Amino acid sequence: MADGKVFKYWETKEYRREYNKKYREQNKETLAAKKKIYQKQYRKDNHEELLKKNKEYYQKNKERCLKNSKERSIKHRIEAFKKISIFRKRKTICCWRCGENRFNLLTLAHLNDDGAYERMEKTTDKIIIDILNGDRKLDDLEIECFSCNWCKGRFKLYPDELPKENTGIIC
Ligand SMILES: [Zn+2]
Repeated sequence: MADGKVFKYWETKEYRREYNKKYREQNKETLAAKKKIYQKQYRKDNHEELLKKNKEYYQKNKERCLKNSKERSIKHRIEAFKKISIFRKRKTICCWRCGENRFNLLTLAHLNDDGAYERMEKTTDKIIIDILNGDRKLDDLEIECFSCNWCKGRFKLYPDELPKENTGIIC
């Protein structure tokens, strides 16, 4: 050693590196939970500063930010819809009523018709995040296609329940 100090074996870089690596592996979950709490507090404590930095970054990289945010939003939506589908014991993401499975035609449905109230408090994106974080229960949510969802909202009935009136109008 350069300064003449004799290091004990646990003071060597290699030993510490190996020890730390093992420790991180063995305590993966606890450390992740601690990190999450720390990050939450950090965001809270530095809210103003982070907001300013984010705004500046956004102004400089507007296009990229918008693209990323759109992609992230779709990714979150797919994950949340997967979670609801698994909760409903379905193997694919589809409208629970008619089976429509084109993702772009699907929407989040509130079975108790109180979606408008929840959306007064938070955006749909926030509801999606709450679902992903486990902060939102799932038993009053479903996946519906826009057609079923609109029909239920308008007539309080699903398309297959609607009486066949005004059909086959001859022109
Ligand atoms: Zn449908």
